Amino acid sequence: MSKNILMLPGDGIGPEIVTQAQRVLEKLNKDLSLDLTLSSALVGGAAIDATGVPLPDVTLAAAKKADAILLGAVGGPKWDKIDMAIRPEKGLLGLRSEMQLFGNLRPAILYPQLASASTLKPEVVSGLDILIVRELTGGIYFGKPRGIRVLENGEREGYNTYVYNETEIRRIGKVAFEAAQKRGKKLCSVDKANVLEVTVLWREIMDDMAKDYPDVELSHMYVDNAAMQLVRAPKQFDVIVTGNMFGDILSDAAAMLTGSIGMLPSASLDINGKGMYEPCHGSAPDIAGKGVANPLATILSVAMMLRYSLEKPEAADRIEKAVSLVLDQGFRTPDIYSDGLNKVGTVEMGDAVIKALDNI
Ligand code: NAD
Repeated sequence: MSKNILMLPGDGIGPEIVTQAQRVLEKLNKDLSLDLTLSSALVGGAAIDATGVPLPDVTLAAAKKADAILLGAVGGPKWDKIDMAIRPEKGLLGLRSEMQLFGNLRPAILYPQLASASTLKPEVVSGLDILIVRELTGGIYFGKPRGIRVLENGEREGYNTYVYNETEIRRIGKVAFEAAQKRGKKLCSVDKANVLEVTVLWREIMDDMAKDYPDVELSHMYVDNAAMQLVRAPKQFDVIVTGNMFGDILSDAAAMLTGSIGMLPSASLDINGKGMYEPCHGSAPDIAGKGVANPLATILSVAMMLRYSLEKPEAADRIEKAVSLVLDQGFRTPDIYSDGLNKVGTVEMGDAVIKALDNI
């Protein structure tokens, strides 16, 4: 049955990188008869300019109807001074919450060819391949009560609530165990169960769920140790699962191990595995329109889409191998360039990936 893919290019470099990712998807659609139907819609600043709001009803309706979504990036200085309620970022947050995209998957992969781009020693990070599964719609970022109140003595007090119920923990646990099954079959659950009751429950439920996934080896780690281990010996990890706040921090640390934000894809999934896929970076207004943005994070987001929402792992593998091949061949956009290699722009990098797809 035909599947609908919605492209949301957004702002800044968004349209440039999504165009290249779309070319890759269209090629695979044709070569492998994937039966995908592609359409596109406005989101973010582009939608504000055209309609006055960052997430027009027609875009939200198309997103809900689609089987998977590819987003470029939203935002930029042009819309920085407008009312907070209709900023471009609200378009993205609106999509995530309206579609209940609670499962955030952020791989941190360091292609051996780019080992020198990391701030860590090449032997510590070369070949790094971690997946962080972060709960995205709960935890302390959403818990109530929250606010800033004035105490009886007149002093102000800020407060938030760190809360997860069993259903929320189980649904992110399921995403993580299943992701581990598709990879190296090792899952590390990160918590602070020595201090926080909410994560005592988290740990209990992960242990209980492990009985249903006997092929996955589950371990637990406190978040402070996990932060240390990520920079000490990151290759010990396969899949990490954690709550919203710990995941926010750890996934940024893991991303930086790889050296370049232009290489990192991500996925946000709902309970049925439907997802929105996007590069980890923003709209890069400083380089927008110059034709130099690295499209590989967006192209790799297409690979994640094929693997996690469209059940086409062989097509995903082909993209990942093609990206590795173009790096072997020395193609580099400026963000990952080093002396002696072949400096290319956004379109040429897209061309190189498309050509590589025919050679693997
Ligand atoms: P950014 O990720 O856009 O850029 C940070 C730096 O990385 C810049 O120097 C940029 O040139 C570079 N960079 C980013 N992507 C690149 C790529 N593909 N190739 C080469 N270089 C790349 O972060 P920022 O500057 O903090 O934010 C810019 C705008 O993007 C803001 O309006 C912000 O709100 C928005 N933003 C959007 C998203 C999203 O849509 N998911 C995420 C983060 C930031």
